[in-house]
Amino acid sequence: MIQEIEPKIYHNEYKPVPAKDDDYVFVFDGPMTLVKIEDGTITCPKVSDLPAKERGDLQYLFNIDGKNDYLYTGKEPVDIPGFSYERVSSFRRNKPKLMSYAGSTAYHLNVWYANNRFCGRCGHKTEVYGKERAMKCPDCGNIIYPRISPAVIIGITNGDKIIMTRYADREYKGRSLVAGFCEIGEDLEATVRREVMEEVGLKVKNIRYYKSQPWGFDSGLLMGFFCDLDGSDKITLEENELAIAEWVDRSEITDEHRYLSLTEEMIMAFRNGEEGRNL
Ligand SMILES: [Zn+2]
Repeated sequence: MIQEIEPKIYHNEYKPVPAKDDDYVFVFDGPMTLVKIEDGTITCPKVSDLPAKERGDLQYLFNIDGKNDYLYTGKEPVDIPGFSYERVSSFRRNKPKLMSYAGSTAYHLNVWYANNRFCGRCGHKTEVYGKERAMKCPDCGNIIYPRISPAVIIGITNGDKIIMTRYADREYKGRSLVAGFCEIGEDLEATVRREVMEEVGLKVKNIRYYKSQPWGFDSGLLMGFFCDLDGSDKITLEENELAIAEWVDRSEITDEHRYLSLTEEMIMAFRNGEEGRNL
């Protein structure tokens, strides 16, 4: 999965230090990011690639395997010869996996920093809070921590069959599983039951946890569950959201060799009869 970068180690501890010339910097403009893509390999600029006047606008992000990564926070758009603005999803479509992970996590932090420049309580401009990863309002004292949105991925099974879906209105057109964000007041099992009923009109039982995954592309923390059909297997499609939902036999599942996402890992785990394992 995207976060499995061993033997490299992701250090999330917030220990900001000034950027050095050969540190990487992530530059975003809405859903676009400034990168170089060559032969399916994606790279982002180094601090030394930035125009000198922009190097003061850098926010420390994290450290991967001894190397610090930064976010460009300047207001002026940056252009760097040899780099171009591509969709953020380019991080998941290109090698190496380390960049897929670092890029998606940087994007998650970028969205959070960009959305919290002002205090939601009093409207004053916020400041970076030095002690930990947070923004602080100097006027009313409000401290804002990074926002992570919990969501579930659901493998609905009935013997040797599983429900696979395709979304109607998303950039990603590949196969998927029923999924959705948790709502306030729900436990995860309630989210699973509600999403299954809303999206495909079925009841499920024997809900069991599989694995989890950070998914910075939509500020998410995904939690995977398998569950068994309880009652009728007749699918009633939520047409606003899903284009297709159908029962697929284990033997019909093909290996698409893309194991970045928890969804894909769960589909392959089911194909291999490993849906009962959670390690
Ligand atoms: Zn405030």
